[in-house]
Parts: sequence; structure tokens; C-alpha cells
Amino acid sequence: MAEHANSGPITLVIHGGAGTITRANLSPEREKEYLKKLQDALDSGFAVLESGGKSVDAVIVAIKIMENSPLFNAGKGSVFTNDERNELDASIMDGSNLMAGAVAGVTTIKNPIDAAYAVMTQSKHVMLFGRGAEVFAEEHGLEIVSPAYFFDSTRYKQLLQLKGKDNISDVGDDKKFGTVGCVALDSHGNLAAGTSTGGMTNKKYGRVGDSPIIGAGTYANNLTCAVSATGWGEYFIRLNVAHDVHALMEYAHLSVRDAADSVVLKKLPRLGGDGGVIALDRQGNFTMPFCTEGMYRGYITKKGDGKVFIYKN
Ligand code: ASP
Repeated sequence: MAEHANSGPITLVIHGGAGTITRANLSPEREKEYLKKLQDALDSGFAVLESGGKSVDAVIVAIKIMENSPLFNAGKGSVFTNDERNELDASIMDGSNLMAGAVAGVTTIKNPIDAAYAVMTQSKHVMLFGRGAEVFAEEHGLEIVSPAYFFDSTRYKQLLQLKGKDNISDVGDDKKFGTVGCVALDSHGNLAAGTSTGGMTNKKYGRVGDSPIIGAGTYANNLTCAVSATGWGEYFIRLNVAHDVHALMEYAHLSVRDAADSVVLKKLPRLGGDGGVIALDRQGNFTMPFCTEGMYRGYITKKGDGKVFIYKN
């Protein structure tokens, strides 16, 4: 039988975290750096789709660019825990077969999204955490770094400012968000989603947020949509945000926009949480709602036609 023709619409959407991101608190130079890095991530991920590559691979390429940049709270540039460490989480899901992989609380894996992919494709498990996940990554030939690689002085200063406050809810919005994520639709009609984060500044006791949890921070299903979330993780876990967007599409037949709006703009703030999602359906319709002041985000549907945004308006 012939393979699926490479003719469907291709689309890639990214986020680089939601929070109190306003023109007043971002310098023009910093703004330029963010826009450039978001554009790099879009272009690189899109190149994979354009050459007929798979959506999971495009997601990984785009996320790695942001993980390797200290601008974002993922990989290099991750926030610090209360005991001055960087504990990273990531997950990925393939909408064509509902395979998924995740790692949580890792400290030595340079690109946690690679490890999530390895868990998905080379193990029988969905989520590995801590030292076990690191050993698995080493055994599967992933790049291992010293925990010091993740040190970033801006993030460290943020921790010092917050030390003494017990509750992560005391952390300023701009300091608790910055996760990265990507959703993609490839020319074979397959959706994928991935998310990577350092979590929330000053997190304690091995706290894990929504980002590595399939259904909370990441979900993809060819039946409906691909979703990646960013925001106050505890609320995203309790609302099962990414899966809820899918469920509203599958069971209530909502469009991707109405489904995502209903979860992010209604249910989430009603419970007291905040953040945003990117969501993309199989026809290439996508949406990027958030209930914070800003969200680093962008999309690309045609070569040279990507758009990146930071603020609400
Ligand atoms: N959702 C992430 C977490 O709670 C944080 C973020 O998106 O910035 O770990």
C-alpha cells in the first residue's frame, strides 16, 4: 500500500512560558533576544515538517533550541529549587499511536526532551524520575552534563530573592513561569506535543509540576488535537488541562479554540490558577490562549511566514 501522500497542511506552534510579561518589565534588547530565539525554534522545527519529517521529531528540534537557551526555564536556564539545584521535567506524546514518554526531577540530562523521547521509544514505561531516569539516559547514549551546566546567574538571583518564602505561590509570576512547549502537525496528518521545564522557582521536597504529566501538561491524539501547557502546575494537574481540551473536542465536539478557551480562560482562573496552552488540531487550526499578562509564543504554517508574540496585544 502506498504511504500517505506528503500533501496535508503542516503547522508548528510553540510557547516559551506564560506569566507577568509586559512591555514595562522587558527591555527592548531582551525582547529582541526572545523574539529571535522563538523564531529560530519555529524555523528549525518547521524545516523538519517541510522535508516530510514526523511531528514528534519537529517537536524535539524546536524544544531543544529553547532548552539550550538560557532565556527559557527549561534545560539551560532552568529555575532553582529551594536547595539550590536544578531539577528538570519533560514529556512528549505522539498523537498517531498515543505513545508517550516523560522524565521528572533530572539533574544531569542536557536535553530532557530527548530523554522523554527515549523513554517513549526505547522503554516499556511512560515516566522515569530522578537518578533512575539519568541512568536510563546514560545507557541510551544521551548527552550527560554536570549539574553545574544548568547554573544561570539570573535564575540564581531570583531564587535568592525568594528564599525565606515557604510557599511557591509567593513566587512572582514572572519567576515561576517560562516553560517551553511545542505542538506540530506533519504532512502525514500526525499530531505531536512536547513540554520541557525547570518547574517553579524555590520548589521543595521533590515537587513535580504538570509538564511531565501526560494529560496535564502535554497531550496529543490524532482524533482531536495536540496540547502543551505552561502555568501554575498544581492547577494544571488538578484540572487535567491538556487532556480536558482533547476531551471537550472528542465528547462535546467543541472546536480546538472553544475547547482550549473554555479550559484556560474559564476553568483555570475559576479555580485560582493561571497560565496558557498551545493547541493544534488535525486540520491545522490552532489557538494560543492564556490568562496571564503575556506568553512567549509563535506559529508557522508556511516557510518565511512564522509569527512570534510576547504580550497580550
Ligand atoms: N507548569 C510548570 C510547572 O508548574 C511551570 C511553568 O509552566 O512555567 O512546573
